[in-house]
Amino acid sequence: MRLGLIGYPVEHSLSPIFQQAALDAIGIPARYELWPTPPDRLADRIIMLRSPDIIGANVTVPHKEAVARAVDRLAPRAQRAGAVNTILNRDSQLIGENTDIPGFLFPLVRRSLPIADARIVVLGAGGAARAVIVALAEHGCRSLVVANRTLQRAEALVSEFGIGRALPLAPVLTDVLPATDLLVNATSIGWDGAASPIPVEWLDLLPAHALVYDLTYRETPLLIAARARNLPTLDGLEMLVAQGAESFRLWFGVDPPFEIMFQAAQEARAQRFGTNG
Ligand code: NAP
Repeated sequence: MRLGLIGYPVEHSLSPIFQQAALDAIGIPARYELWPTPPDRLADRIIMLRSPDIIGANVTVPHKEAVARAVDRLAPRAQRAGAVNTILNRDSQLIGENTDIPGFLFPLVRRSLPIADARIVVLGAGGAARAVIVALAEHGCRSLVVANRTLQRAEALVSEFGIGRALPLAPVLTDVLPATDLLVNATSIGWDGAASPIPVEWLDLLPAHALVYDLTYRETPLLIAARARNLPTLDGLEMLVAQGAESFRLWFGVDPPFEIMFQAAQEARAQRFGTNG
């Protein structure tokens, strides 16, 4: 039995490490593999997924939207998100799911953050921000600002889901930061350890209790600056493992060993990127 990650590139991924740790811990005789798939090979990959020995797959950049169009059926969440990060092979029928949505929520629910009452700012309007907004809408979020470099993309998201308002990634944001309980970085800025989606001095405007949640699963200038200001922080590793754990639950119908998966992911991250990501 096999599972794998479809994306391009995928070599940096931690998924095989923490998924294999879960399979081995539970004693499921399956292998989780890396399936690098350039866009012009996606159709072949979809055919391969229908083989009887394939349980399913995870999907990452750049295929989440294309796979949503290629599977036989979409689960309601994947339909709302317009993106698939998990595929289930059920008797050669491919079902598309989206576990980024519960994955994003998991660390917040675990910390008892009251999403419906929290004043939330999301930076970014790409695929990850979309999953975040679906998640926040599901949880009755009432106060949301979506800020993006390309304002029209933020406006399109806000109007599609009927929540929040759109702003540019510009000084106008400083007006809302003093009344923000949760700041989410869903842009791709920060992964290189060099840049921040907003000037880090703007963090001085946040209330002392505001949680800074960066979906990047390694250390970023935004997280470093938030910690230096004694703000609570959360990086993307817990989300990454939580989305994988939810995929595991869908593939096998059993509760995955989250702590074993998280520890394996932490160790692999430390090895690859240094102790703190
Ligand atoms: P994406 O669809 O390519 O979107 C990228 C976003 O970043 C867009 O909003 C884009 O703004 C913004 N951006 C890019 N370059 C910028 C720049 N120089 N200045 C300002 N804004 C810029 O990427 P994605 O799939 O949403 O992924 C975003 C991040 O989330 C990635 O770092 C990814 O690793 C992370 N992520 C983490 C998890 C997890 O499990 N932890 C899951 C999914 C994603 P424009 O619209 O203006 O281009």
